[in-house]
Amino acid sequence: MSPPALPVPLNLERFPELHPALDSQSAIAEANRCLFCFDAPCAAACPTHIDVPRFIKKISTGNLRGSALTIFDANILGLSCSRVCPVDVLCEGSCVMHGYNKKPIEIGRLQRYAMDHFYANTRALPVPISEPRPSEVGQAVPPASPASGRFFHGLSASGSGLLPRIACIGGGPASLSCAAELRRHGYPVTVFDNRPLPGGLNTYGVAEYKLRPSDSLREVDLIRSLGVEFRQAEIGDTVQLEDLEKEFSFVFVGVGLGAMERLGIPGEHLRGVIDALRFIERYKTSPDFAVGRRVVVIGGGNTAIDAANASKRLGAEEVHIFYRRSEKEMPAFSFEYDRSKVEGVRFHWLAQPVEIMGQDGRAAAVKFAETRLGLPDLSGRRKAEAVEGSYFECACDMVIPALGQSRFMGMLSAARGIELKGGSIVVDRPTGRTTNPKYYAGGDCVNGGREVVDAVADGKRAALAIVAQPSFPPMEATHG
Ligand SMILES: Cc1cc2nc3c(=O)[nH]c(=O)nc-3n(C[C@H](O)[C@H](O)[C@H](O)COP(=O)(O)OP(=O)(O)OC[C@H]3O[C@@H](n4cnc5c(N)ncnc54)[C@H](O)[C@@H]3O)c2cc1C
Ligand code: SF4
Repeated sequence: MSPPALPVPLNLERFPELHPALDSQSAIAEANRCLFCFDAPCAAACPTHIDVPRFIKKISTGNLRGSALTIFDANILGLSCSRVCPVDVLCEGSCVMHGYNKKPIEIGRLQRYAMDHFYANTRALPVPISEPRPSEVGQAVPPASPASGRFFHGLSASGSGLLPRIACIGGGPASLSCAAELRRHGYPVTVFDNRPLPGGLNTYGVAEYKLRPSDSLREVDLIRSLGVEFRQAEIGDTVQLEDLEKEFSFVFVGVGLGAMERLGIPGEHLRGVIDALRFIERYKTSPDFAVGRRVVVIGGGNTAIDAANASKRLGAEEVHIFYRRSEKEMPAFSFEYDRSKVEGVRFHWLAQPVEIMGQDGRAAAVKFAETRLGLPDLSGRRKAEAVEGSYFECACDMVIPALGQSRFMGMLSAARGIELKGGSIVVDRPTGRTTNPKYYAGGDCVNGGREVVDAVADGKRAALAIVAQPSFPPMEATHG
């Protein structure tokens, strides 16, 4: 059964898509610019190693379904990745066209073209076939199989009663990718997510102008159609890890990161103060959500920029981003920064908030101290130090702290033999296996917060490692 529809913001026109779809003529012209490199650097730069020249070649010959299947061979979330990947620093950034001083091939938009065609048409993946399961464990995510006319590798696409069952905790890109790959090999999988709708940050966190919740849910539906079961449950609360261990042979942990870090200054409790993650989730899911007229965003990362751009598009008259270091140290991608300036967001450097000032219980201004840069801190970036007595205020009616997500691992910190380091799960990188061999992990909870495509790669890698387990025991052996 399909999940309930997420309320779509009434203001979609205010969120024109970042990379609009190519029409068929432009797609074919763009595909024909591709040099179809042997040992293509774009495929190497893609964390899921999509066979880029192959899927583009298929577009140029009009084989759009074949093109989509080539993408799915490597990356089941090809739709969301085509919209959200920072292509400038991944596939397109390594396109050989740069060497000829030419515009790189628009790989992301061509991928989107193939994906849109697939989802607008049959949506079904090819029928199951039987073949021995591969043993890709210990390798990087393998390049896509050249035989793209099929999807399932496994014993059977359904009716796998006696096979070992796998639980995936979290319904974000890492778990979805892991679950799809396991189903592809014929194994029964259940995904546990604590939110009303699966998809993780693809559904609730990524900016609306990049990926709409409805598109994230279309991908969830495709994965559901492979036979993946979805259950809404908070593991560690309503269901315990011990319960999962009894029911499942292996557990994949893809829980992402925790809530946003707090500023730790007076006034954070005031009305009108909302952290960037909650702000993005609210405007994506509540049609009546109202933005302030004068918004202050605190932080210099991509999430700060997403929140600032959204504030502008939702109708804020002024949006100001304050960052405690300088423009040079800002962690956001430079293309995100450039885009935000075009949106009309104003940037202020070397300023650190010391208090949110209120009026009648509502945020009315933020008091800042000017900073200067000292010696590098543990992250290697120069430390921002407040300049004594250099205070100034910025009036506002909404404050959006965007300091990054915390690495809270409450569910795992209580033993189970899973080692954590710096709030992240320690894994064997080639397999995603944790220090407890029953548990695998991937995505943000392992890498500390990267991109959707990295989480997809992690999930797939772990699934391949699980199915390659020499001692993959029958279900009976794991009970009792
Ligand atoms: C605001 C924002 C914007 C972003 N924009 C981009 C972008 O434009 N492009 C890009 O490539 N990446 C972007 N990212 C990063 C990207 O969203 C993440 O890297 C990716 O979603 C990580 O996937 P994941 O599966 O590891 O975790 P998540 O997507 O966080 O999914 C984890 C899921 O697990 C659930 N969960 C947690 N604990 C439990 C529990 N105990 N029991 C059950 N379920 C649980 C969570 O509710 C969530 O649904 C953005 C991130 C943020 C925060
Ligand atoms: S998944 Fe992302 S990085 Fe990989 S080829 Fe597609 S757009 Fe590029």
